[in-house]
Amino acid sequence: MNQRQHSAIAENLQQVRERIASSAALCARAPEEVTLLAVSKTKPASAIEEAIAAGQLAFGENYVQEGVEKVAAFAGHQPPLVWHFIGPLQSNKSRLVSESFDWCHTIDRLKIAQRLNEQRPAGRAPLQVLIQVNISDEQSKSGITLSEVSQLAAEIAAMQNLTLRGLMAIPAAESEYSRQLAVFSQMTEAYNQLKQHYPQVDTLSMGMTDDMPAAIAAGSTMVRIGTAIFGARDYSA
Ligand SMILES: *Cc1c(COP(=O)(O)O)cnc(C)c1O
Repeated sequence: MNQRQHSAIAENLQQVRERIASSAALCARAPEEVTLLAVSKTKPASAIEEAIAAGQLAFGENYVQEGVEKVAAFAGHQPPLVWHFIGPLQSNKSRLVSESFDWCHTIDRLKIAQRLNEQRPAGRAPLQVLIQVNISDEQSKSGITLSEVSQLAAEIAAMQNLTLRGLMAIPAAESEYSRQLAVFSQMTEAYNQLKQHYPQVDTLSMGMTDDMPAAIAAGSTMVRIGTAIFGARDYSA
């Protein structure tokens, strides 16, 4: 075996894939129904390279400047990487996101959607977007309430340079599986309603390292995993 196959990141990825498969099997879902997004925020390009060598092509970034730099560093990669912006988005940074990323998970107001739509470069595929729902964390300012989803969805669906793909949530941290499941299930209900109106809606982005099994049991189609793949993040550097 070469050095790449021994990398910790490759082993971690393999374990995460196995956990996705076993969580899916428990609720009679196929593992292919769940896309693994590798959250590489704060991690160096070398870590992303290790993940790519282990077959991972979809990456999530939270910070605009850091994300834009990584997208540029891997520009032209074959096979192409898919970059998801998953962090809070301020209006004055929307252009960078719309010009660099393939997806944005954190649309939570009309103004941001309008800016991303206007700023998407001509000739690029539409930006694939998710509406962020503030499902449980009243402290957080990110995300809209479930009752606001249908209005914003209709507005986004009318925009030419955005494609509405579904919903995203970051529930408040909760250690008990049954409570994680209850919160995620509210998202699934809203997602199923949205799907009835918009045939292109196929993505429910929920589940992180600490709550992935419950998210998959509830119906997540995309889990965003950082720590279990790349190890703990160091914010002191
Ligand atoms: C950091 C982050 C993740 C990954 O979290 P882990 O617990 O490290 O798996 C997922 N989603 C969002 C929005 C994040 O900010």
